Amino acid sequence: MTVDVIAAAAVGDWQAQLRAAITSPAQLAAALALDPAHFGDSAGAAADFALRVPQPFLARMRRGDPDDPLLRQVMAAGVELQAAPGFNDDPVGEVAEANPRPGIVRKYAGRALLLVAGGCAVNCRYCFRRHFPYGENALSRAECDAALTWLADEDDIEELILSGGDPLLAGDRYLAELVDALHRLPRLKTLRVHTRLPVVIPDRVTAGLLDALDRDGLRTVLVLHANHGNEIDRAVQGACERLRGRGITLLNQAVLLAGVNDSADALAGLSDALWDAGVLPYYLHLLDPVRGAAHFAVPDDRAQRLVGELATRKPGYLVPRLVREVPGAASKRELAPAYPA
Ligand SMILES: *Cc1c(COP(=O)(O)O)cnc(C)c1O
Ligand code: SF4
Repeated sequence: MTVDVIAAAAVGDWQAQLRAAITSPAQLAAALALDPAHFGDSAGAAADFALRVPQPFLARMRRGDPDDPLLRQVMAAGVELQAAPGFNDDPVGEVAEANPRPGIVRKYAGRALLLVAGGCAVNCRYCFRRHFPYGENALSRAECDAALTWLADEDDIEELILSGGDPLLAGDRYLAELVDALHRLPRLKTLRVHTRLPVVIPDRVTAGLLDALDRDGLRTVLVLHANHGNEIDRAVQGACERLRGRGITLLNQAVLLAGVNDSADALAGLSDALWDAGVLPYYLHLLDPVRGAAHFAVPDDRAQRLVGELATRKPGYLVPRLVREVPGAASKRELAPAYPA
């Protein structure tokens, strides 16, 4: 079956689109009319961290362009296999320090992460969780209940962040039950969802999902993850519109990635595309030094100049905060923009 036939069979059905994702570098190169040799030992890289690209995301890439900014985020490449000093398997200290219960990560005051699902709809090559032991952290029903019991006893947690992997890989019914249980926690004010799914498979924003998230008494914030303006097409705009229609606040976090969005033009384009979809840029993360991702790194001083230049071109609400994750720190650390002379 060709990619187009698979896509036609899966219109509107996000789970079918998920199953039809491309999982081999050769298939991905062929779909874009590219020479697979361009990417070096991509099979070796995909053996280290699987390749996964759903068709709706593929459809936004330019054919015949090996440097397409969306392709670069997801194509396995031989360069990932080169060792780089300082790049390791747990760059933000989640595994080592901050895993008090299976499925819970708690590093900051007032907020905790619940790792709802192990996998993702798309595998991003720069992901800081590419070596995370998800097998031990994808929640079974019993573990989820245990995590909720733990949460009920934690006095200071006012915001729960559903994360993963991608929490929206969980089905609508599961999420509805989970949000019901959270709704009963008296101290919880805010439900936050960190997800890339509405970007890569916009059909994931189903009526059932909207019903699950739309609950009186809990504010809901959905933090999307898009790194380049080309990721946001009409279907993504539609998904965002449905979410906003339920009063859900939409923010975006991006990662600053060499060869993807490391120019003031690309960052301005991302902010514009987000705003067109009713989404505010929140964080621009410096790359976490995860093994296999060194080729995406942008030096701090360049990052600060890029954000400084962006600030001279866009209103303040379209300029994200440049941050870094520091293991053991009590918050993300902001880096000041460096403004042009
Ligand atoms: C990023 C993060 C949060 C949320 O931080 P905010 O600054 O509130 O967006 C919470 N917990 C963990 C473990 C995080 O990495
Ligand atoms: S969607 Fe997020 S968690 Fe999943 S692979 Fe991409 S960056 Fe990592």
